[in-house]
Amino acid sequence: MIIRELERGRSILARLDFSAEIVESITSLAEKTDIKVGTFSAIGALQQAELGYYEQDSHQYKVMEVDGPVELVSCTGNISIRDGKPFVHPHASLANSDGNLRGGHLHSGTIFAAELYIQELKGEPFIRIHDPITDLYLWS
Ligand code: ZN
Repeated sequence: MIIRELERGRSILARLDFSAEIVESITSLAEKTDIKVGTFSAIGALQQAELGYYEQDSHQYKVMEVDGPVELVSCTGNISIRDGKPFVHPHASLANSDGNLRGGHLHSGTIFAAELYIQELKGEPFIRIHDPITDLYLWS
């Protein structure tokens, strides 16, 4: 187990741009504001998305296309460092017009509207390195 106590830094609210890609938008904001560690949440609506499900046996993401429009019911995740740059790890729950949910790792999504909250955390950054057991890039 890796445990570190961090201090709260800046709290940032942002309205993301129509038709922008949501993961790139969060990553770009983290780079511009120099956030190395943090958590975030977002709500809004997406025009379409790609969700991922990590297959633990094959160590590959199964990619699921979500043809929108969908509500971004919940998007939550964290920011840490991978390859020397801010790396965003987002998960999302998306609802269709019947209110049915699909969820998973959020690979990408085209924004219809999105309101983002980032909480910066100050302290020793979490660096992602390849983990041979899971084949994922995990905190070290
Ligand atoms: Zn994930």
